[in-house]
Amino acid sequence: MVDVIIAGCGPTGAMLAAELRLHDVRVLVLEKETEPKSFVRIVGLHVRSLELMAMRGLLERLLPHGRRRPAGGFFAAIAKPAPKDLDSAYAYLLGIPQPVVERLLEEHAVELGAQVRRGRAVTGLEQDDEGVTVELADGERLRARYLVGCDGGRSTVRKLLGVGFPGEPSRTETLMGEMEADAPQEEIAAKVAELREIHPFWLRPFGGGVYSVVVPAGGVGDRAQPPTLEDFRQQLRAVAGTDFGVHSPRWLSRFGDATRLAERYRVGRVLLAGDAAHIHPPIGGQGLNLGVQDAFNLGWKLAAQIRGWAPDTLLDTYQAERRPVAEDVLDNTRAQTELLSAEPGAQAVRRLLTELMDFDEVNRHLIEKITAIGVRYDFGEGPDLLGRRLRDIDVKQGRLYDLLHRGRGLLLDRTARLTAGGWSDRVDHLADPTAALDVPCVLLRPDGHVAWVGDDQQDLDAHLARWFGTPLLKASPAPK
Ligand SMILES: Cc1cc2nc3c(=O)[nH]c(=O)nc-3n(C[C@H](O)[C@H](O)[C@H](O)COP(=O)(O)OP(=O)(O)OC[C@H]3O[C@@H](n4cnc5c(N)ncnc54)[C@H](O)[C@@H]3O)c2cc1C
Repeated sequence: MVDVIIAGCGPTGAMLAAELRLHDVRVLVLEKETEPKSFVRIVGLHVRSLELMAMRGLLERLLPHGRRRPAGGFFAAIAKPAPKDLDSAYAYLLGIPQPVVERLLEEHAVELGAQVRRGRAVTGLEQDDEGVTVELADGERLRARYLVGCDGGRSTVRKLLGVGFPGEPSRTETLMGEMEADAPQEEIAAKVAELREIHPFWLRPFGGGVYSVVVPAGGVGDRAQPPTLEDFRQQLRAVAGTDFGVHSPRWLSRFGDATRLAERYRVGRVLLAGDAAHIHPPIGGQGLNLGVQDAFNLGWKLAAQIRGWAPDTLLDTYQAERRPVAEDVLDNTRAQTELLSAEPGAQAVRRLLTELMDFDEVNRHLIEKITAIGVRYDFGEGPDLLGRRLRDIDVKQGRLYDLLHRGRGLLLDRTARLTAGGWSDRVDHLADPTAALDVPCVLLRPDGHVAWVGDDQQDLDAHLARWFGTPLLKASPAPK
């Protein structure tokens, strides 16, 4: 019996495993595939995900594998630069191959003590008051206190739970792959530039005659089967009038633009995260980011539940906080999809929005959505900072995010007279009158969101109890 079984070792599952291990939770990750994915999908880690990585000391590992790009220009691919004073110390996008993100997150989880077993597909589950029995494809049965389905858009766990996944089916399909092309690079570049109105369509050179190719699927091939090289040739000819002499594919895939959201994120001892809970078109590059952020929200709460200090309602705040964020992402991808349509009406709306984005407020609002730094959880009445994430700021020991590597709460106290008291086994206290904050004191949750703002000890104690449960230790005196 382990504490948590995670189905799926994609980015969401690997991030969650690492977050749980920070709290000594025994984690077993079961991954259907025997080998890591070979699809070199280049994803963008947006500002909030970069912040999360910095909060766990992972950013330095990722940076050498990616390319920093400006943070703006992602909403419906409208080319507007981000506002100069974007509220983050990590105000850029990191373009990085998804398999690298997955490998580094998995390595991090394993270093922290998570077990990952490959070639192990979850096929069944049963739950009772004490735990969940998970059945694997080979008939083996394993037991855990909780199960989290991080098993992607076609999630077996979600289906086994009978959780509805309403939304819209795929309307357009796209072919994506990596292959060699014999046509001269200049000819390919000229054709891609000429056809830039067609979306999505590109051939991006990787060097050595190898290209990342994306082309609308039209009606080619069987949607249930992986595409063939001939499907790519046929569609390239249909769109560009030539197949550029493509050959020697490294990998070929197809994706759609279905938009769906799980009706529930939790059924008893089983939870859903990442693509298992929500799918949407890749426009804006948000899916992986959203999943990793789900894992960040869930990890410390599930750990608290297992460690026995979670307040009764804490685990349910996972759905209450994350489902509205996913709803918002689904909506913004719906809007972006419309803005990419070649219909005259949609093009007119696109031109109008492009004009509106010259207003800083509009541009900022959209980029804060895409990068997720605008997320504000509903923690009730309070100052604007309440429920938001706090940017990385200078503190007397260096940087704030460096103090969050262990995944604990943090009281950042400019008054130097408050105390985390009996919660000091779960919450660190930094008395720092020099901290670059414009409020007296904030209580940060392990995910970096502001759980309280104020200067009153009694009020603070009530909020410590709300988020971190009953105090276990005798209160320690306020720092001198
Ligand atoms: C073309 C394209 C471009 C994209 N670009 C971006 C981008 O720029 N930025 C971004 O944020 N997102 C992007 N995305 C989305 C992103 O790839 C996904 O949102 C992300 O992979 C979701 O991660 P996940 O861990 O939740 O699920 P997955 O990555 O799907 O991982 C699920 C894992 O579970 C395993 N599994 C499945 N069933 C079982 C089972 N029964 N038992 C055990 N294991 C199982 C799978 O093998 C897989 O390893 C893009 C997607 C596409 C298609």
